[in-house]
Amino acid sequence: MPPPTPVFIAHCCFKSSNCKRRYNSSQNLRRHLILAHQFEFPERIDKPRMRNNASYLYLAEPSAPLDQAVSIHFGCPVCTDHFSELTSLEAHYTTNHNEHLPGQQSEQGQSRSSTGISSVSVDDNDSNSASYALGRRR
Ligand SMILES: [Zn+2]
Ligand SMILES: [Zn+2]
Repeated sequence: MPPPTPVFIAHCCFKSSNCKRRYNSSQNLRRHLILAHQFEFPERIDKPRMRNNASYLYLAEPSAPLDQAVSIHFGCPVCTDHFSELTSLEAHYTTNHNEHLPGQQSEQGQSRSSTGISSVSVDDNDSNSASYALGRRR
């Protein structure tokens, strides 16, 4: 029987390829997902502790005690699954935890339109700004 693979779990943002922030705990990653990407989580998540098992030896640091090669895996912020590829984590999350994804409809530019309303200074040249809504058909 082969020895368990030493693995270090990184908690990395998988939402956006130009974000990729990394955190040292799933809790911090969840907070980032809430604040930066409008994810929703219940107040408490009973995420089981990672326990060493026949396949994996979980390390507290990305270095192994015995000069072994350490695999860096990306941990799911909600459950104990982890993946060697960030894209695999994203796929896992989308499939298994879609109740914790940000609202799908808000991605359709809803946030944009809400900011757009407050900043309607489009018609600076128009003498009458109230005509903006009505005057579209001219
Ligand atoms: Zn992020
Ligand atoms: Zn998961």
